[in-house]
Amino acid sequence: MATGAVRWRPARVIALVAGLIITFTLYRGLIYDPDTVTIGDKKISLKKEKGKPFDVDPLMKMTGPPAGKLWGPGEAAKVNATLLSLVRNEELDGILQAMGDLERTFNSKFNYPWTFINDVPFTEKFMRATKAKTKAEVFYEVIPKEHWEIPSWINPDLMTASARLLEEQKVQYSALKSYHQMCRWNSGMFYKHPALLKYKWYWRVEPKVHFFCDIDYDVFRYMQDNNKTYGFVINIYDSPESIASLWPATEEFIAEHPEHIHPNNAMRWLVDAENRPEHNRLANGYSTCHFWSNFEIADMDFWRSQKYEDYFNHLDRAGGFFYERWGDAPVHSIALGLMEDREKIHWFHDIGYQHIPYFNCPNSDKCKGCEAGRFTDGTGLDQEDCRINWFKYAHMN
Ligand code: GDP
Ligand code: MN
Repeated sequence: MATGAVRWRPARVIALVAGLIITFTLYRGLIYDPDTVTIGDKKISLKKEKGKPFDVDPLMKMTGPPAGKLWGPGEAAKVNATLLSLVRNEELDGILQAMGDLERTFNSKFNYPWTFINDVPFTEKFMRATKAKTKAEVFYEVIPKEHWEIPSWINPDLMTASARLLEEQKVQYSALKSYHQMCRWNSGMFYKHPALLKYKWYWRVEPKVHFFCDIDYDVFRYMQDNNKTYGFVINIYDSPESIASLWPATEEFIAEHPEHIHPNNAMRWLVDAENRPEHNRLANGYSTCHFWSNFEIADMDFWRSQKYEDYFNHLDRAGGFFYERWGDAPVHSIALGLMEDREKIHWFHDIGYQHIPYFNCPNSDKCKGCEAGRFTDGTGLDQEDCRINWFKYAHMN
C-alpha cells in the first residue's frame, strides 16, 4: 500500500465539505454585502452607508408595469377570481370610497365580481349602495357561526386577564373580542367559506383604502401566468408585544413538520435582527416584518394546502389569537416566508395604495394623488418601513 498519499476516509471528506459550507456561509453572511436587487427583468443597485440600512429610494423609483406579457381589458379570458371584502354594515361609507377607487382604476375595465362577507347579515341599505357602485356581479355572504366563534378550548377568564396585560403594553384592540375573531378568521377561515370555494384567486379590499394609479392589465392573469402565489404592496414591522409567542410556536411547528419548509424559503427575512434588533428580541426571534395584509392579491390554494392547514391548526391550538393578539398579517407572512418559494411572492410596485397611515406610491404618470416614493403621512413612522428587508433577503443574490 502506498504511504504518504492522502487517504479519503469518510470522516475527512465530511470535515472538508463542512469546512467549505461554513466558509461559504460566513462569506455570504458576514463579508459579502450584496447591493443589487433583481425584480423581474430589472436590476437595481442600492446605496448603503456603513452602519445604516440600504436606501430603498431607487426601488421606489421603478417605473412601468411588471415584465412579461400583460393582458389588457377584453384581451384574455377572465381568471377565477373575486374582489373580497370582510366589512361591517357601519362601514358603508368607507367601503363605497374604496370601491370607487378600485372600480375607477381597475375593475370597471375587468369586471371581477365583488364578494362582501360579514359576521351578521348585510342591511338592505348596504347592499343597495354597494351594488350601485359597480357593473360587475356582487355577492353578500354571512360567515358560518363555527368559523367565527371563539374555539371551545379558549378559556374566557384567561382571555380577559391576558387582554388587560396587553392593554398595559399598549397593544391596539387588545380587549376588542371581535378584532381577535377577525384576525383568526382572516388567518385560517376565510378561504373555507362555502361561497369562496369556487374561486382560486382573491384581492382583499378594506373600507377606506385608496387606490391611486390606473391599472391597465389583468393583475389576476399576471399572477396566474407568472406562477405567483402572493402579491403585496407594503412591508412593515409589527408590534412585538402582540405576538410574543408566535415565533416560539412557529419553531415548534418547524420541528414537528420539517417537511413543510420550502427549500427556497425567505427564512432570513423572517429572522433578521440587524434592522431593529429590539423588535426581534421582544418577538423572541422574529423580526416582526410582515406583508401588510389589508392588501393581498393571492392564490387561496396556498391557504388550502395541507402544510398551511397544519400550521394554522398548530397556532390555533396554541391560543395566541386570543391570549395574545396575533394578526393575520404576521401569520400569513411567516407561513409564506417558510413554506412558499420566495420567487412566487410579488411586489406590486405599480399599484398606488393607501391604508392609513402608510402608502405605496409609484413613480408613474398613471397615478394621481400619491406623491412618488412617499411612505407615510404620520410623523415618526418612517422607521416602521421594512420593505428593504424583503428586497435584501428575497431579491438580492
Ligand atoms: P385595522 O386595519 O387593523 O385597523 O382593522 P380594521 O378595523 O380595518 O379591520 C380589518 C378588516 O376587518 C376590515 O375590512 C374591517 O371591515 C373588518 N372587520 C373587523 N372587525 C370586524 C367585525 O367584527 N365584523 C365584520 N364583519 N368585519 C370586521
Ligand atoms: Mn383596516
